[in-house]
Amino acid sequence: MRKCKKCGLPVTFKGIHIDKNGVCNYCNFFEEKKVKILNYQNLEKDFLEELENAKKQAQKNGSDYDCLVGLSGGKDSTYIIYKLKNDYGMRVLAYTFDNGFSTDYARNNIKNALEKLDVDYMSVSMKESELRRYYTAFMKLMHNFCSVCFHFMHYYSHKIAYEKKIPLIVNGRTIGQILQTADSEKGIEPFQISNNLKEFEYQMFGKLTDKLEQQKFVEYLNESRVRSLSYFAYHNVSEEETMDFLEKRINWKRPDKGTSHPDCWAHALAEKLNIEKCGYPVRTGELAVLVRAGKISKEEMEEILSKDMDRYREIDSTTEKRFYERIKYRKCEEV
Ligand SMILES: [Zn+2]
Repeated sequence: MRKCKKCGLPVTFKGIHIDKNGVCNYCNFFEEKKVKILNYQNLEKDFLEELENAKKQAQKNGSDYDCLVGLSGGKDSTYIIYKLKNDYGMRVLAYTFDNGFSTDYARNNIKNALEKLDVDYMSVSMKESELRRYYTAFMKLMHNFCSVCFHFMHYYSHKIAYEKKIPLIVNGRTIGQILQTADSEKGIEPFQISNNLKEFEYQMFGKLTDKLEQQKFVEYLNESRVRSLSYFAYHNVSEEETMDFLEKRINWKRPDKGTSHPDCWAHALAEKLNIEKCGYPVRTGELAVLVRAGKISKEEMEEILSKDMDRYREIDSTTEKRFYERIKYRKCEEV
C-alpha cells in the first residue's frame, strides 16, 4: 500500500493527501510549523500566562475553582492534576464522567489519586436510556463508540465549568491526539485555543460538528464560554516520565505492559471496529506525530502497529457480548 515516505501513514488514512514528493499533508503542515510546535520554552510561558488569566478570571467570577480537570484513572489526567495543584498553585476541581466502561484498574487509580492529591471531586453520570441511545446511534453512524464518551466527557466539563463559573478546563490529550489530523491552524493548539465546546469538538469531528448540531443530535451549550487547554501541547513530557513520576509521588499503579487505554474495558472492541472500518489501529495517527517530532522511528511505529493489528483484529467474544449487552443495541434498534 502507498504510504507517506516521511511518517509512514497509509494513503487510506483519514483526510490524507500525498503530494508528488511522496509526503503527506500532515507532514507538510508539521514541517512548516514545527518551530512553534516544539519550542517548549515559549509554550510553557504561554501556558503559564493562560493559568494566570484563569486565576484572575476565577476571582472576578467569584468561583471556588481556577480550573476543571477530567479524571479518567489513566496516567495523563492524574499527572496534570498533580502538576496544576502543586507546581502552578491552581485550585482544581476534578471530575469523572461515568460511562459504564470504567475498569477496576481505573477506579482504584482514581480512589488512590484522590486520597493523595486532595482535590475536590465530582462524578457525573447520565440517564442510562439516553446514553444507550447515543452509543447505538454512533455505532450506526460511525461504526465507533469512543466519540460518545469523548463528546459527553467534554459536554459535562463545559456544563460544570459554566455552572460553577470556572473559566478554564485543562485536558490530558497527548500531542499525538491533538495533531493527528492537523493540516491547518484552525482549532489546533498551540495556534488556537478553543473558547467553547463547539470549537473544542471541531478538532475531533471537523465539519461534522455543524451537521450534528443542525440535526439537534448534540447540544453545544452555546451560552457557555470556557477556555480549554491541552496540557501536553505546552510541556515536553514522555509517557514513561509521566508514569515514573506518578509511581514515585503517589504510588500510582502502572497498567499491564502493552495495554493501551487501560481505563476502558471495551477498548479492544474499539480497536477492532477501527481496523474493520479504516484498516488500521486507533493510535496510527498519534504515532505518526511522534515520528514527525523525532520521538520514535518509522520502523518502531510499524512494529507497534503490527502488534496492535495482531492483538485486535480478532478479540475475545466475551468483550463483544458484554459491550452489546451494555448498549442494548438490538433493543434500541427495535424501538
Ligand atoms: Zn506523512
